[in-house]
Amino acid sequence: MFHISDLKKFNRCPRIFLLDQITEPTPFRRMVRLDDEVTALAAEYLGAKDCFVGERGDDPAKSMRALQEHEWILKARFEYGGLRIKVPFLHHVEDGYDLYFLFVGLFPRADDMQFYCDTVWVLEHLQIPLKEIRIIHLNASYVREEELDLSRLFVTSSHFYNSKNHLSTSVRDAIYANMKDLSRQIAKMETAMSEPLPEAVRTGRCAGRQKCRHYERCFAQESELPCNSILTLTGTSERYAMSREGIQWLKDADPARIEGTPMQYAQIMADRCGGLYADRNALKSWFRDVTFPVSFIDFEWECFAIPPYRGMKPYDVLVFEYSLHTLQEDGTVDHKVFLSVHDDRRKFVEEMLKDVPETGTVFAYNADGAEKIRIRELAELFPEYRDQLLSINERMKDLQVPFVCGYVYDTRMKGVWTLKRIMSMMDEPGYHELDIQQGMDAVFQWRLLDREDKNADSEQIADELKAYCGMDSYATLVVFNWLRHLCDEQA
Ligand code: SF4
Repeated sequence: MFHISDLKKFNRCPRIFLLDQITEPTPFRRMVRLDDEVTALAAEYLGAKDCFVGERGDDPAKSMRALQEHEWILKARFEYGGLRIKVPFLHHVEDGYDLYFLFVGLFPRADDMQFYCDTVWVLEHLQIPLKEIRIIHLNASYVREEELDLSRLFVTSSHFYNSKNHLSTSVRDAIYANMKDLSRQIAKMETAMSEPLPEAVRTGRCAGRQKCRHYERCFAQESELPCNSILTLTGTSERYAMSREGIQWLKDADPARIEGTPMQYAQIMADRCGGLYADRNALKSWFRDVTFPVSFIDFEWECFAIPPYRGMKPYDVLVFEYSLHTLQEDGTVDHKVFLSVHDDRRKFVEEMLKDVPETGTVFAYNADGAEKIRIRELAELFPEYRDQLLSINERMKDLQVPFVCGYVYDTRMKGVWTLKRIMSMMDEPGYHELDIQQGMDAVFQWRLLDREDKNADSEQIADELKAYCGMDSYATLVVFNWLRHLCDEQA
């Protein structure tokens, strides 16, 4: 018996499906916080009464009986042809059932139809007559007041949304137009279960937008690549073809087959120059407007699907920590850190405005994609501090720019521009010495503090969070010093 998730895996790559059968499952960790039992909230929104609520492991016959006995059927398990599904909501109406899907996002789109189609395929084969088919989703423009208003938090739509977030095709029409007979695919999956594991074949599904969790196992040799391997060349799938044809090193890359981005140029030049490439003129020019005191800042934040506090929208973020290193012209360095739980954004802002010097350049790594956005959000939330907050943004520079613009590349970066990777090249204490080593780990630990988890050692977690965020701002300072040093060196 299979689930829709198995079908999705098999469609992506039969090897993922089979590896998942034989490897220990990695515990599911939700990137976005979802404390509320969203099905219960949606049931309340729908006014569902006289409900049957299904449970994991239910016999599907129980759900079939519930159809006769209850007006609303929630989370019921059904099964047909070897495929087991969980249906969010069925509502008994005249001559049949209205089906409601639950999408815990803002704009359900018709580009990933499999869950919807496979669910309807099973229900159709069980001869459950479906009338309306709708999707309940979160309302992007809802702003929470003191209490959660379910009538405004959720939206019921009988249409998908297009890329401009406008209503487009009907949910029902799209499902019936895309629904496929699953019998043959289920049979193929059953056969695959008794066959040897297929060879790993690289496709766009291995490492596209979402890297396959089995990538390291399938392509173990890549973790041992020499720093200047052609396979570290970024932004081109031609690197694999060149490697197969015997081009092994960055310095030998065929210019006619690559896009020639600044990053690629820097990578190739680094290999030709013995491992390091630095466009010193470009670097000097980029650093020209830097003034002391120079600050290095890093934020940590949580993202909530359902707004927990007044003034928040679905999927809003809540900053909870900053670390700030400040470098004076005489070389002295000062460090401040702020960490809070629950909603302490006002204090966050007030402390930050006290700590960040009123003059001088402020650096953050990936500032344009993170800290600057968070500061703009805070300026909107606290208009009384707007000018001071936006003045920090005006003085803020993104230290990632010299790397992504190809001003500098060291082959030890192996095609990766993260602060952690660059820090690993420095002769400094690094992330590997910390208990928390990843941003999402920091968020998961903070959740324990925020939920006041009785099993968690809150003091230790707070120390670890301060150490991790502190390392981010410290690493930004170290990378800044390295780049300045490069500017001063003779080519
Ligand atoms: S890394 Fe590629 S070949 Fe390996 S399981 Fe994933 S998708 Fe399949």
